[in-house]
Amino acid sequence: MTIDLHTHSNRSDGTDSPLELIANAVAAGLEVVAITDHDSTEGWREAEKAARHSDIQLVKGIEISTRCDGRSVHLLGYEFDPTNRPLLDELGKVLDGRNSRLPATLERLRGLGIDIDANDVRRHSVNAAAMGRPHVADALVELGVVANRDEAFERYLMPGKPAYVDRYAADLEQAIGLVKDAGGKTVLAHPWSRGSKRVLTRSRIAALTDVGLDGIEVDHNDHDSEDRAGLAQITRELGLVRTGSSDYHGTGKIGFDLGCNTTSRDQLHRLLG
Ligand code: AMP
Ligand code: ZN
Ligand code: FE
Ligand code: FE
Repeated sequence: MTIDLHTHSNRSDGTDSPLELIANAVAAGLEVVAITDHDSTEGWREAEKAARHSDIQLVKGIEISTRCDGRSVHLLGYEFDPTNRPLLDELGKVLDGRNSRLPATLERLRGLGIDIDANDVRRHSVNAAAMGRPHVADALVELGVVANRDEAFERYLMPGKPAYVDRYAADLEQAIGLVKDAGGKTVLAHPWSRGSKRVLTRSRIAALTDVGLDGIEVDHNDHDSEDRAGLAQITRELGLVRTGSSDYHGTGKIGFDLGCNTTSRDQLHRLLG
């Protein structure tokens, strides 16, 4: 049973349409796939339609941009009510924050002698709910400034790099509450990737469990084997669900192929019944 619970379509910063995502998931031999675009459920409808015409089981999800003690943390939410007003309002704030920082990002790039405008970025995000850094990266690739998205982040767009601009993110505890109140389940996405390892300690994860956290994405390419062992232990001790997933972004992220990490059937059952 091949289960992949974290993938992106072009409704956020992946490169496949939801329809192509489902087709590629089938071709990769997945039996269950979750669509988890950043801060948006816009891809659900098309993915559902595509999945109905195939044998694959679709899990409807989202990856919410949150903040925990000043650090960026991503929260996966599954099978919640997408019309829930308080949740939609919060997601709207995150999407607005992503769009509204774009002028400042472009200003920083101009200061470095790189001239791209909002329309260049818009062309790379026509299907997306908001314009994010990966779309800026695509414009930089098109201009020939960098070879790929990774190089764009490495040189310009990561925190600490010259074109990085902060944006609004939801409070982590609040986001868990919003997804739970909307009838969904919550899983910490790649909790020990980049800067978040420092804040997501065992005791902090225990506190999140008290406010309704359901699981931890242990198996993810951002985690080495030591991280995975540490997170697996915390997951067991706290009685959380252990998931694994690809974080597929189509051609936008190299080495994150569909099914490269997977979730077991019994863990999926614990999470979603
Ligand atoms: P944004 O939400 O606009 O701040 O963009 C964040 C998205 O950019 C993340 O969800 C990832 O898909 C991607 N990303 C963030 N950091 C990196 C990085 N260092 N290298 C490549 N992609 C990244
Ligand atoms: Zn992404
Ligand atoms: Fe993420
Ligand atoms: Fe992701």
